[in-house]
Amino acid sequence: MSGSGTSVPIRASDVLRKKLAKIGLYSEADLLVHLPLRYEDETQITRVIDAPWGEPVQVEVVVQTSEIQYRPRRQMIVKAADHSGEITLRFFSFYPSHQATLAEGKRVRAFGEVRSGFFGAEMMHPRFHGVDEGDPLPEGLTPVYPTTAGVSSNTLRKLIAAALGEGDLADTLDEALRQRLKLPGLARTLRFLHSPTIGTEVDALHARNHPAWRRVKFDEVLAQQMCLRRAYLARREQGAPVLVAQDDLGARLLDQLPFGLTGAQLRAMAEIAGDLSQPYPMQRLLQGDVGAGKTIVAALAACQAISAGWQAAFMAPTEILAEQHCLKLKDWLEPLGVRVAWLSGSLKTKAKREQLAATAAEAQLVVGTHALIQDGVDFAKLGLAIVDEQHRFGVAQRLALRKKGGNPHQLMMSATPIPRTLAMSYYADLDVTVLDELPPGRTPIKTRLVADNRRDDVVGFAAKHIEEGRQVYWVCPLIEESEALQLQTAEDTYEQLSIDLPALTVGLVHGRLKADEKQATMAAFAAGEIDVLVATTVIEVGVDVPNASLMVIEHAERFGLSQLHQLRGRVGRGAHESTCILIFAGPLSETARLRLKIIFENTDGFEIARQDLKLRGPGEFVGSRQSGVPLLRYADLELDADLVEMAREVAEEVLVNHPEQADRHLKRWLGSREELLKS
Ligand code: ADP
Ligand code: MG
Repeated sequence: MSGSGTSVPIRASDVLRKKLAKIGLYSEADLLVHLPLRYEDETQITRVIDAPWGEPVQVEVVVQTSEIQYRPRRQMIVKAADHSGEITLRFFSFYPSHQATLAEGKRVRAFGEVRSGFFGAEMMHPRFHGVDEGDPLPEGLTPVYPTTAGVSSNTLRKLIAAALGEGDLADTLDEALRQRLKLPGLARTLRFLHSPTIGTEVDALHARNHPAWRRVKFDEVLAQQMCLRRAYLARREQGAPVLVAQDDLGARLLDQLPFGLTGAQLRAMAEIAGDLSQPYPMQRLLQGDVGAGKTIVAALAACQAISAGWQAAFMAPTEILAEQHCLKLKDWLEPLGVRVAWLSGSLKTKAKREQLAATAAEAQLVVGTHALIQDGVDFAKLGLAIVDEQHRFGVAQRLALRKKGGNPHQLMMSATPIPRTLAMSYYADLDVTVLDELPPGRTPIKTRLVADNRRDDVVGFAAKHIEEGRQVYWVCPLIEESEALQLQTAEDTYEQLSIDLPALTVGLVHGRLKADEKQATMAAFAAGEIDVLVATTVIEVGVDVPNASLMVIEHAERFGLSQLHQLRGRVGRGAHESTCILIFAGPLSETARLRLKIIFENTDGFEIARQDLKLRGPGEFVGSRQSGVPLLRYADLELDADLVEMAREVAEEVLVNHPEQADRHLKRWLGSREELLKS
């Protein structure tokens, strides 16, 4: 339905309105911001004989013959001519109305590229319209609109012209702000883009940085920022428990750690501590590369909640990871007298009942998987919800945890580094803390690229590695088409390695194993009882075994960059020199080659993410729906980074000082798409 609220519906037949709705056009206001894809210069006529090949031109010709042929496939072939020569217009798709306009004897203007075809000069699928001799030429450039089947650019042009005449073009940025940002007024901008001033060149209009386009993109990015920011401010209105520590639990945890915190960890801790002592909910994302040490920061936050007399929950996306966290947190906190409960899908009925009872009563910290947010889980007094690897959870799941307690503070964590501009856009509704420093004493990971015909060398290298007392991860590729095939590959690799390395213990872990089998294998690996762990990507997130210092990844070309980075981050956690061997099967596509080059040359997750973004574009990067990217039709987060920064600053200012202006701005630019961002 129309998202544009009270605005005027488009005046057109029902049939046309239905078609327009398909491309998101419901109201006159929607038409106003439906901007051209490109422009064409139809202000001149070129004689057929003068038309340069390969460049768009307009010819005015009279149809000589028009026929439909079926070989090699159905097509309409129109022969036409002007005084200078003949040209063929050729169409593979056409409607009866086209045939009428292009009937014998009709005069038409056709716009397109001329090329040398089977019949001489030829235009393939030109845009055309019927004219009478002597009809005046347009004076300005012709806008070409994005459209849908059965709605011509011409129809859109007429509807938009009407909307421009009577629609609401009131500016939602006031004069002073526009001057500060050096942006033109809205009415001028939209009129200009829909019908450029006479004399404007096509190239000037196609340039990304034309002031009019900058205004449009700014408005659009601003709308996105406002929408997210408004959600943030609304959540802030809700109260949350003031968590002020009543004892020295946190200090005792710090005392007992075998390491001191990094500067980045200390800063993060201070920021979070500040948030927790406010009477409104924290909405903070803790971002840090793999191995940056997010867990301890979260544990300290939990301590603050606990010493304030509240519960903390810690949710992780996989059973293996949740279990690891649980063991580590118990290790840290139980000696200090903290009561820890554990909830996971694989608990047996009786154990589950006990843990649920603890959660509803005396437990101070509850660790688990999605099981934490299921029905029937009641927290006695939830004050802080921690979500690890938050990007692995859907919005709904994150919300569910928020709803579990009255209105707990939330700490989200992510090791998927997101480039700055994307983060500003994606996370405009969160405060972000970045751990930009790795703990000291890590030896850098060496990365090697090896073609799969040298797999034997890799096996030998692994054997040597293990002789020195280290352990090895051996990761089998993700096979998206078939889980069965993926399992098969993992099992084959397991068997082959068991044969190749008879004196060593090889283990296997994959997604199909039962939770307790997975855990038993992981525990054995962590305890050093397994030398080589063959795994599917189940070990991708968060697993921490410092003695493992070799990571072998087979068919590395099939993995995503952030996945490779995460996997590589599983090693290099102890003091030993670590290596990551990427085995690839050739021949590689150009993109695959570039991706491997990026991971080979870079160790910084943010740099990798930045390059990845360039390669893939933001939509694919974080999932277009989540990223808010479908809201951006004109702006590009990478290329228009400066606008994102400006918009971020302005968004809150307008929301707070001119709320009704903000409303109108959102309606204009987002319409129904505003819903996409609500969470
Ligand atoms: P991630 O940010 O990827 O979740 P972890 O919290 O799992 O990282 O930490 C990785 C490893 O580094 C763990 O073994 C952790 O105990 C250790 N660690 C964390 N902080 C420090 C520090 N300041 N000094 C040394 N080791 C640390
Ligand atoms: Mg982690």
